Amino acid sequence: MKSWDAVIIGAGVIGLSLGWRLRLEGLRVLLIEKGEPGREASYAAGGMIAHCDPHLAPELKPLALASAQMYPEFVAELRQESGVSPDLREQGTIAFFPADEQLDCADARRIEPAEVTALEPLFTHTTKSFGSQAYLLPERSVDPRALCHALVEAAKTRGIDFVTGSAVTEIEVQSGRATGVKTAHSSYAAGCVINCAGAWAAQIQPLPIPTRPAKGQMVCVVPAPETKSGTPLIQHVIRAPEVYLIPRSDGRILLGATLEDAGFDKRTDADTIERLYRFATEAVPAIGQMRIHDAWAGLRPASPDDRPILGETSLPRYYAATGHYRDGIMLAPITARLMTQLILSKPLQFSLDAFSPRRFAR
Ligand SMILES: Cc1cc2nc3c(=O)[nH]c(=O)nc-3n(C[C@H](O)[C@H](O)[C@H](O)COP(=O)(O)OP(=O)(O)OC[C@H]3O[C@@H](n4cnc5c(N)ncnc54)[C@H](O)[C@@H]3O)c2cc1C
Repeated sequence: MKSWDAVIIGAGVIGLSLGWRLRLEGLRVLLIEKGEPGREASYAAGGMIAHCDPHLAPELKPLALASAQMYPEFVAELRQESGVSPDLREQGTIAFFPADEQLDCADARRIEPAEVTALEPLFTHTTKSFGSQAYLLPERSVDPRALCHALVEAAKTRGIDFVTGSAVTEIEVQSGRATGVKTAHSSYAAGCVINCAGAWAAQIQPLPIPTRPAKGQMVCVVPAPETKSGTPLIQHVIRAPEVYLIPRSDGRILLGATLEDAGFDKRTDADTIERLYRFATEAVPAIGQMRIHDAWAGLRPASPDDRPILGETSLPRYYAATGHYRDGIMLAPITARLMTQLILSKPLQFSLDAFSPRRFAR
Protein backbone atom coordinates (compact mmCIF):
# COMPACT_ATOMS: atom_id res chain seq x y z
CA MET A 1 0.00 0.00 0.00
CA LYS A 2 1.33 3.44 -0.96
CA SER A 3 2.11 5.77 1.95
CA TRP A 4 3.07 9.39 2.41
CA ASP A 5 5.21 11.23 4.96
CA ALA A 6 2.34 13.67 5.55
CA VAL A 7 -1.36 13.63 4.75
CA ILE A 8 -3.00 17.05 4.93
CA ILE A 9 -6.76 17.29 5.32
CA GLY A 10 -8.12 20.34 3.49
CA ALA A 11 -6.63 22.27 0.57
CA GLY A 12 -7.41 25.84 1.60
CA VAL A 13 -4.68 28.44 1.86
CA ILE A 14 -3.38 26.82 5.06
CA GLY A 15 -3.24 23.22 3.83
CA LEU A 16 -1.79 24.29 0.47
CA SER A 17 0.91 26.52 2.01
CA LEU A 18 1.89 23.86 4.51
CA GLY A 19 1.92 21.11 1.90
CA TRP A 20 4.17 23.18 -0.34
CA ARG A 21 6.60 23.92 2.53
CA LEU A 22 6.75 20.29 3.62
CA ARG A 23 7.37 19.22 0.04
CA LEU A 24 10.20 21.76 -0.28
CA GLU A 25 11.75 20.00 2.74
CA GLY A 26 11.61 16.73 0.81
CA LEU A 27 8.51 15.11 2.37
CA ARG A 28 6.08 13.08 0.26
CA VAL A 29 2.79 14.94 0.72
CA LEU A 30 -0.84 14.03 -0.01
CA LEU A 31 -3.53 16.73 0.15
CA ILE A 32 -7.10 15.44 0.56
CA GLU A 33 -9.85 17.93 -0.22
CA LYS A 34 -13.59 17.29 0.11
CA GLY A 35 -14.42 19.71 -2.71
CA GLU A 36 -12.04 21.63 -4.94
CA PRO A 37 -8.78 23.15 -3.66
CA GLY A 38 -9.01 26.76 -2.49
CA ARG A 39 -12.78 27.12 -2.85
CA GLU A 40 -13.96 27.70 0.72
CA ALA A 41 -12.96 30.45 3.18
CA SER A 42 -9.78 31.07 1.22
CA TYR A 43 -11.85 31.81 -1.90
CA ALA A 44 -14.17 34.16 -0.03
CA ALA A 45 -11.48 36.24 1.68
CA GLY A 46 -10.65 39.86 1.01
CA GLY A 47 -6.91 39.34 1.25
CA MET A 48 -5.91 42.11 3.65
CA ILE A 49 -2.60 41.44 5.37
CA ALA A 50 -3.73 43.45 8.36
CA HIS A 51 -0.88 43.03 10.82
CA CYS A 52 -1.50 46.55 12.22
CA ASP A 53 -5.04 45.67 13.31
CA PRO A 54 -5.24 46.81 16.96
CA HIS A 55 -7.75 44.03 17.69
CA LEU A 56 -5.28 41.20 17.06
CA ALA A 57 -4.75 39.04 20.15
CA PRO A 58 -1.46 40.06 21.83
CA GLU A 59 0.06 36.57 21.48
CA LEU A 60 -0.75 36.61 17.75
CA LYS A 61 0.94 39.94 16.99
CA PRO A 62 4.52 38.63 16.59
CA LEU A 63 3.30 35.89 14.22
CA ALA A 64 1.20 38.38 12.27
CA LEU A 65 4.14 40.75 11.83
CA ALA A 66 6.50 37.93 10.84
CA SER A 67 3.98 36.58 8.35
CA ALA A 68 3.35 40.01 6.84
CA GLN A 69 7.11 40.46 6.44
CA MET A 70 7.40 37.06 4.76
CA TYR A 71 4.80 37.92 2.10
CA PRO A 72 6.98 39.53 -0.61
CA GLU A 73 9.36 36.56 -0.66
CA PHE A 74 6.51 34.04 -0.33
CA VAL A 75 4.75 35.54 -3.34
CA ALA A 76 7.94 35.92 -5.39
CA GLU A 77 8.84 32.27 -4.82
CA LEU A 78 5.30 31.18 -5.64
CA ARG A 79 5.21 33.26 -8.79
CA GLN A 80 8.45 31.70 -9.93
CA GLU A 81 7.21 28.15 -9.28
CA SER A 82 3.70 28.61 -10.67
CA GLY A 83 3.80 31.47 -13.17
CA VAL A 84 0.73 32.93 -11.40
CA SER A 85 0.79 36.40 -9.81
CA PRO A 86 -1.23 36.76 -6.59
CA ASP A 87 -1.49 40.57 -7.02
CA LEU A 88 0.45 41.60 -3.93
CA ARG A 89 -0.24 45.30 -3.46
CA GLU A 90 2.00 47.53 -1.38
CA GLN A 91 0.11 50.84 -1.37
CA GLY A 92 -0.93 50.55 2.29
CA THR A 93 -4.17 50.91 4.20
CA ILE A 94 -6.11 53.95 5.33
CA ALA A 95 -7.96 52.91 8.48
CA PHE A 96 -10.28 54.73 10.84
CA PHE A 97 -10.22 53.99 14.55
CA PRO A 98 -11.86 55.62 17.58
CA ALA A 99 -9.71 58.52 18.82
CA ASP A 100 -8.76 56.61 22.00
CA GLU A 101 -7.59 53.44 20.16
CA GLN A 102 -4.02 52.46 21.04
CA LEU A 103 -2.21 51.58 17.83
CA ASP A 104 1.04 49.68 18.20
CA CYS A 105 2.43 49.25 14.69
CA ALA A 106 5.81 50.42 13.39
CA ASP A 107 5.60 53.00 10.58
CA ALA A 108 1.84 53.56 11.05
CA ARG A 109 0.98 57.24 11.39
CA ARG A 110 -2.02 59.42 12.07
CA ILE A 111 -3.20 61.43 9.12
CA GLU A 112 -5.51 64.42 8.96
CA PRO A 113 -8.62 64.54 6.72
CA ALA A 114 -6.76 66.71 4.19
CA GLU A 115 -4.09 64.05 3.76
CA VAL A 116 -6.75 61.33 3.40
CA THR A 117 -8.20 63.39 0.55
CA ALA A 118 -4.75 63.91 -0.98
CA LEU A 119 -4.09 60.16 -0.88
CA GLU A 120 -7.56 59.13 -2.03
CA PRO A 121 -9.26 62.03 -3.85
CA LEU A 122 -12.47 60.08 -4.44
CA PHE A 123 -12.95 59.21 -0.75
CA THR A 124 -15.63 61.24 1.04
CA HIS A 125 -15.62 61.53 4.81
CA THR A 126 -18.81 60.22 6.34
CA THR A 127 -20.11 61.32 9.73
CA LYS A 128 -18.56 58.24 11.26
CA SER A 129 -15.16 58.66 9.63
CA PHE A 130 -15.08 62.31 10.76
CA GLY A 131 -15.75 61.14 14.30
CA SER A 132 -12.72 58.85 14.27
CA GLN A 133 -9.01 59.16 13.67
CA ALA A 134 -7.47 58.22 10.32
CA TYR A 135 -4.20 56.29 10.10
CA LEU A 136 -1.97 55.32 7.21
CA LEU A 137 -0.87 51.72 7.87
CA PRO A 138 2.06 49.99 6.16
CA GLU A 139 -0.06 46.96 5.23
CA ARG A 140 -0.23 44.93 2.03
CA SER A 141 -3.05 43.03 0.34
CA VAL A 142 -3.18 40.01 -1.93
CA ASP A 143 -5.78 38.34 -4.15
CA PRO A 144 -6.58 35.12 -2.22
CA ARG A 145 -8.08 33.34 -5.24
CA ALA A 146 -4.96 33.98 -7.30
CA LEU A 147 -2.85 33.03 -4.28
CA CYS A 148 -4.56 29.64 -3.97
CA HIS A 149 -4.33 29.12 -7.72
CA ALA A 150 -0.57 29.81 -7.51
CA LEU A 151 -0.25 27.42 -4.55
CA VAL A 152 -2.08 24.63 -6.39
CA GLU A 153 0.13 25.07 -9.47
CA ALA A 154 3.30 25.18 -7.33
CA ALA A 155 2.16 22.08 -5.44
CA LYS A 156 1.59 20.19 -8.69
CA THR A 157 4.94 21.32 -10.08
CA ARG A 158 6.61 19.99 -6.95
CA GLY A 159 4.86 16.62 -7.17
CA ILE A 160 2.40 16.90 -4.31
CA ASP A 161 -0.40 14.34 -4.66
CA PHE A 162 -4.04 15.45 -4.52
CA VAL A 163 -7.26 13.58 -3.83
CA THR A 164 -10.25 15.87 -4.46
CA GLY A 165 -13.99 15.46 -4.03
CA SER A 166 -13.45 13.15 -1.08
CA ALA A 167 -13.93 14.02 2.61
CA VAL A 168 -11.78 12.57 5.35
CA THR A 169 -14.06 11.07 7.98
CA GLU A 170 -11.63 9.63 10.47
CA ILE A 171 -8.01 9.51 11.57
CA GLU A 172 -6.54 6.02 11.61
CA VAL A 173 -4.82 5.11 14.85
CA GLN A 174 -2.41 2.26 15.54
CA SER A 175 -0.33 1.71 18.66
CA GLY A 176 -1.55 5.01 20.08
CA ARG A 177 -0.47 7.24 17.18
CA ALA A 178 -1.97 8.57 13.94
CA THR A 179 -1.06 6.40 10.97
CA GLY A 180 -3.30 7.75 8.22
CA VAL A 181 -6.84 8.77 7.34
CA LYS A 182 -10.06 7.24 6.08
CA THR A 183 -12.48 8.63 3.53
CA ALA A 184 -15.82 7.08 2.58
CA HIS A 185 -14.12 4.91 -0.04
CA SER A 186 -10.46 4.59 0.88
CA SER A 187 -7.65 4.68 3.42
CA TYR A 188 -4.36 6.58 3.09
CA ALA A 189 -1.33 5.71 5.21
CA ALA A 190 0.96 8.45 6.46
CA GLY A 191 3.78 9.22 8.87
CA CYS A 192 1.75 12.14 10.18
CA VAL A 193 -1.64 13.77 9.59
CA ILE A 194 -2.44 17.49 9.72
CA ASN A 195 -6.01 18.75 10.08
CA CYS A 196 -6.31 21.93 7.96
CA ALA A 197 -10.04 21.50 7.42
CA GLY A 198 -11.00 25.05 8.44
CA ALA A 199 -14.59 25.48 9.65
CA TRP A 200 -15.16 21.71 9.21
CA ALA A 201 -12.21 20.57 11.35
CA ALA A 202 -14.52 19.38 14.16
CA GLN A 203 -16.23 16.85 11.89
CA ILE A 204 -13.25 14.49 11.76
CA GLN A 205 -13.21 11.67 14.31
CA PRO A 206 -12.02 10.49 16.77
CA LEU A 207 -10.50 13.76 18.02
CA PRO A 208 -12.52 16.72 16.71
CA ILE A 209 -10.60 20.01 16.44
CA PRO A 210 -13.11 22.55 17.81
CA THR A 211 -13.67 25.09 15.06
CA ARG A 212 -16.99 26.72 14.17
CA PRO A 213 -18.04 28.62 11.03
CA ALA A 214 -18.16 32.43 11.19
CA LYS A 215 -19.95 33.60 8.07
CA GLY A 216 -18.85 36.62 6.05
CA GLN A 217 -20.58 38.15 3.04
CA MET A 218 -18.70 40.20 0.46
CA VAL A 219 -19.41 42.10 -2.74
CA CYS A 220 -17.20 42.68 -5.77
CA VAL A 221 -17.71 45.71 -8.01
CA VAL A 222 -16.13 46.16 -11.43
CA PRO A 223 -15.78 49.18 -13.71
CA ALA A 224 -18.80 49.74 -15.97
CA PRO A 225 -18.19 48.40 -19.50
CA GLU A 226 -18.03 51.91 -20.99
CA THR A 227 -15.24 53.06 -18.63
CA LYS A 228 -11.65 52.06 -19.11
CA SER A 229 -10.81 49.22 -16.75
CA GLY A 230 -7.36 48.54 -15.45
CA THR A 231 -6.86 51.16 -12.75
CA PRO A 232 -8.81 50.92 -9.52
CA LEU A 233 -10.67 54.04 -8.37
CA ILE A 234 -8.80 53.81 -5.08
CA GLN A 235 -5.20 52.78 -4.52
CA HIS A 236 -5.21 51.99 -0.79
CA VAL A 237 -7.23 49.48 1.15
CA ILE A 238 -9.73 51.66 3.02
CA ARG A 239 -11.10 50.37 6.31
CA ALA A 240 -13.94 52.84 6.83
CA PRO A 241 -16.12 52.55 9.93
CA GLU A 242 -18.97 50.67 8.19
CA VAL A 243 -17.25 48.80 5.36
CA TYR A 244 -13.82 47.98 4.04
CA LEU A 245 -12.79 48.45 0.42
CA ILE A 246 -9.99 46.41 -1.16
CA PRO A 247 -8.78 47.41 -4.63
CA ARG A 248 -7.32 44.89 -7.05
CA SER A 249 -4.84 45.94 -9.72
CA ASP A 250 -7.27 45.06 -12.55
CA GLY A 251 -9.84 47.63 -11.39
CA ARG A 252 -12.09 45.42 -9.25
CA ILE A 253 -12.93 46.58 -5.71
CA LEU A 254 -14.06 44.20 -2.98
CA LEU A 255 -16.48 45.45 -0.34
CA GLY A 256 -16.67 43.62 2.94
CA ALA A 257 -17.69 42.08 5.11
CA THR A 258 -20.24 40.80 7.58
CA LEU A 259 -19.52 38.63 10.61
CA GLU A 260 -22.45 36.29 11.25
CA ASP A 261 -23.20 33.26 13.35
CA ALA A 262 -25.21 31.29 10.77
CA GLY A 263 -23.85 27.76 10.95
CA PHE A 264 -22.79 26.33 7.60
CA ASP A 265 -25.18 28.54 5.61
CA LYS A 266 -23.26 30.19 2.75
CA ARG A 267 -26.17 32.01 1.13
CA THR A 268 -26.00 35.75 0.54
CA ASP A 269 -28.96 38.01 1.20
CA ALA A 270 -29.93 40.97 -0.92
CA ASP A 271 -30.32 43.38 2.03
CA THR A 272 -26.80 42.76 3.26
CA ILE A 273 -25.31 43.12 -0.20
CA GLU A 274 -27.28 46.32 -0.73
CA ARG A 275 -26.09 47.67 2.64
CA LEU A 276 -22.40 46.97 1.92
CA TYR A 277 -22.79 48.62 -1.50
CA ARG A 278 -24.53 51.65 0.02
CA PHE A 279 -21.84 52.14 2.68
CA ALA A 280 -19.18 51.84 -0.01
CA THR A 281 -20.84 54.43 -2.25
CA GLU A 282 -21.17 56.79 0.74
CA ALA A 283 -17.41 56.46 1.31
CA VAL A 284 -16.45 56.57 -2.40
CA PRO A 285 -19.41 57.96 -4.41
CA ALA A 286 -17.74 57.03 -7.74
CA ILE A 287 -18.34 53.38 -6.85
CA GLY A 288 -21.96 54.15 -7.73
CA GLN A 289 -20.86 54.13 -11.38
CA MET A 290 -19.37 50.65 -11.04
CA ARG A 291 -21.31 47.42 -11.51
CA ILE A 292 -21.89 44.71 -8.91
CA HIS A 293 -20.11 41.76 -10.46
CA ASP A 294 -20.50 39.17 -7.76
CA ALA A 295 -21.46 38.60 -4.15
CA TRP A 296 -20.62 35.61 -1.99
CA ALA A 297 -20.34 34.28 1.52
CA GLY A 298 -17.59 32.22 3.12
CA LEU A 299 -17.05 30.50 6.45
CA ARG A 300 -14.14 31.69 8.54
CA PRO A 301 -12.77 28.96 10.81
CA ALA A 302 -13.17 30.28 14.37
CA SER A 303 -11.97 28.50 17.50
CA PRO A 304 -13.55 28.70 20.98
CA ASP A 305 -11.18 31.54 21.97
CA ASP A 306 -10.85 32.97 18.43
CA ARG A 307 -7.12 32.13 18.35
CA PRO A 308 -5.60 29.75 15.78
CA ILE A 309 -5.14 26.10 16.71
CA LEU A 310 -1.57 25.11 15.86
CA GLY A 311 0.37 22.12 17.08
CA GLU A 312 0.31 18.43 17.87
CA THR A 313 -2.89 17.08 19.40
CA SER A 314 -3.00 14.62 22.30
CA LEU A 315 -2.82 11.88 19.63
CA PRO A 316 0.86 11.62 18.64
CA ARG A 317 1.58 12.49 14.97
CA TYR A 318 -1.86 14.08 14.55
CA TYR A 319 -1.54 17.86 14.17
CA ALA A 320 -3.92 20.77 13.76
CA ALA A 321 -3.30 23.94 11.73
CA THR A 322 -6.62 25.72 11.64
CA GLY A 323 -8.86 28.22 13.46
CA HIS A 324 -7.29 31.22 11.69
CA TYR A 325 -10.63 33.02 11.83
CA ARG A 326 -10.31 36.44 10.16
CA ASP A 327 -6.58 36.23 9.46
CA GLY A 328 -5.81 33.01 7.61
CA ILE A 329 -4.58 34.67 4.44
CA MET A 330 -2.24 36.89 6.44
CA LEU A 331 -1.05 34.02 8.64
CA ALA A 332 -0.51 31.38 5.93
CA PRO A 333 3.26 31.88 5.41
CA ILE A 334 4.16 31.82 9.11
CA THR A 335 1.76 28.93 9.81
CA ALA A 336 3.40 26.87 7.07
CA ARG A 337 6.87 27.69 8.38
CA LEU A 338 6.13 26.98 12.07
CA MET A 339 4.19 23.78 11.40
CA THR A 340 7.00 22.55 9.14
CA GLN A 341 9.52 23.27 11.90
CA LEU A 342 7.32 21.44 14.41
CA ILE A 343 6.69 18.39 12.24
CA LEU A 344 10.39 18.08 11.41
CA SER A 345 11.36 18.60 15.11
CA LYS A 346 13.38 21.69 14.22
CA PRO A 347 13.75 24.71 16.55
CA LEU A 348 10.62 26.86 16.39
CA GLN A 349 10.89 30.50 15.34
CA PHE A 350 8.06 31.26 17.83
CA SER A 351 6.59 29.22 20.65
CA LEU A 352 3.28 27.64 19.71
CA ASP A 353 2.26 26.96 23.33
CA ALA A 354 -0.50 29.60 23.31
CA PHE A 355 -2.04 27.98 20.23
CA SER A 356 -1.82 24.32 21.22
CA PRO A 357 -4.85 22.16 20.36
CA ARG A 358 -4.44 20.65 23.82
CA ARG A 359 -5.69 23.87 25.47
CA PHE A 360 -9.25 22.72 24.72
CA ALA A 361 -8.85 19.25 26.25
CA ARG A 362 -11.46 18.58 28.93
C1 LIG B 1 -15.67 37.22 3.91
C2 LIG B 1 -14.31 36.85 4.42
C3 LIG B 1 -13.29 37.79 4.37
C4 LIG B 1 -12.01 37.46 4.84
N1 LIG B 1 -11.01 38.39 4.71
C5 LIG B 1 -9.75 38.06 5.12
C6 LIG B 1 -8.69 38.99 4.94
O1 LIG B 1 -8.86 40.09 4.40
N2 LIG B 1 -7.44 38.64 5.40
C7 LIG B 1 -7.20 37.42 5.99
O2 LIG B 1 -6.05 37.15 6.40
N3 LIG B 1 -8.21 36.51 6.16
C8 LIG B 1 -9.46 36.82 5.74
N4 LIG B 1 -10.48 35.92 5.92
C9 LIG B 1 -10.22 34.69 6.66
C10 LIG B 1 -9.58 33.64 5.78
O3 LIG B 1 -10.36 33.47 4.63
C11 LIG B 1 -9.48 32.32 6.54
O4 LIG B 1 -8.90 32.49 7.81
C12 LIG B 1 -8.62 31.33 5.74
O5 LIG B 1 -9.06 31.26 4.41
C13 LIG B 1 -8.67 29.96 6.39
O6 LIG B 1 -8.00 29.08 5.53
P1 LIG B 1 -8.16 27.52 5.71
O7 LIG B 1 -7.29 26.88 4.70
O8 LIG B 1 -7.96 27.18 7.14
O9 LIG B 1 -9.72 27.26 5.45
P2 LIG B 1 -10.50 27.00 4.08
O10 LIG B 1 -10.07 27.89 3.01
O11 LIG B 1 -11.94 26.96 4.42
O12 LIG B 1 -10.00 25.56 3.69
C14 LIG B 1 -10.36 24.39 4.40
C15 LIG B 1 -10.51 23.31 3.36
O13 LIG B 1 -10.72 22.07 4.01
C16 LIG B 1 -11.64 21.32 3.24
N5 LIG B 1 -12.22 20.31 4.11
C17 LIG B 1 -13.04 20.49 5.17
N6 LIG B 1 -13.36 19.30 5.73
C18 LIG B 1 -12.72 18.34 5.03
C19 LIG B 1 -12.65 16.94 5.13
N7 LIG B 1 -13.30 16.29 6.09
N8 LIG B 1 -11.92 16.27 4.23
C20 LIG B 1 -11.25 16.92 3.24
N9 LIG B 1 -11.29 18.27 3.09
C21 LIG B 1 -11.99 18.98 3.99
C22 LIG B 1 -12.63 22.38 2.78
O14 LIG B 1 -13.38 21.94 1.66
C23 LIG B 1 -11.71 23.56 2.47
O15 LIG B 1 -11.30 23.58 1.12
C24 LIG B 1 -11.76 36.19 5.42
C25 LIG B 1 -12.78 35.25 5.44
C26 LIG B 1 -14.05 35.57 4.94
C27 LIG B 1 -15.12 34.52 4.96
